[in-house]
Amino acid sequence: MDRLSAAGRRALDEAGHRVGDVEMAFTEWQRMVTTEDPRLWTDDPGCGQAGCCSDPAELRATVERGLSVLPARDRRAFAAAVAALDARARVLRSAALQRLAEDA
Ligand SMILES: [Zn+2]
Repeated sequence: MDRLSAAGRRALDEAGHRVGDVEMAFTEWQRMVTTEDPRLWTDDPGCGQAGCCSDPAELRATVERGLSVLPARDRRAFAAAVAALDARARVLRSAALQRLAEDA
């Protein structure tokens, strides 16, 4: 998100998305993926506190809403970072499902 230009920040603001909310959602989504948070593949809601046990689907949706309003250059850079996390999340999920199938 530090890659966002002033124009990108303005676009988020104008679309009614708080830059801080999108940034927080991205940072939190990144944290969940890099720490292999089990809530990426279970339905465990945790404590439900944003910043501790945020809903991964909600975080990802907030990131997507941010992406959709960014100017092309910002969107490309941000989308690349998000795509890398998505790919990692998919690997983690399928590995977890594999483990569950083997344990069954
Ligand atoms: Zn929690």
